Amino acid sequence: MWYRTRVDLDNGNLNHCHAKVERHLSELRSCFVDSNYVESVLKDRDPLVYRVYRVIPATGSRNLEFGTSIVYPGRIGHEYFMTKGHFHEKEDAGEVYFCLKGEGYLILQSFDGQALYIRLKPGFAAYVPPKWWHRTVNTGEEPFICFYVVPADAGHNYTCLRKGDVKIVAMEVNGRPKILRRGGHS
Ligand code: MN
Repeated sequence: MWYRTRVDLDNGNLNHCHAKVERHLSELRSCFVDSNYVESVLKDRDPLVYRVYRVIPATGSRNLEFGTSIVYPGRIGHEYFMTKGHFHEKEDAGEVYFCLKGEGYLILQSFDGQALYIRLKPGFAAYVPPKWWHRTVNTGEEPFICFYVVPADAGHNYTCLRKGDVKIVAMEVNGRPKILRRGGHS
């Protein structure tokens, strides 16, 4: 176990981490509203949408995981690049996000369908309460970098909120980010 890592505030890289996750568009097919647009992009490229540097010094519910999540700038049609979105496997696990660079939203949705969004820019922190599904969306021109802290055993549940059930999407409208609320069909 070690206790120190350096966060590069320009690009979000950590000089030590235990795991690095990279998600390309081909792994996020089910996230974007316009599936046809996704497939048309994938015909000639598979862009890196986000990266996560994970520091997991020890396991167990009393330990913490921390790291950075970096959503790169880009869109699928009008819809901004974003993370896959997840609930925690351990339902009682909350999480903290602290924005280091860029601009975007933390989007939250509860089991019973309440949905809200939190605007983040450098210096702003936000809390994800237990039992809330969450994702980040980059609405800016540079990488959207957040530092996070979460219980080490929180885990990820990616499957229980389907695309059609997500109520808040961030779209570019007339060159500006706009939040659209959708009915969902759960
Ligand atoms: Mn989480």
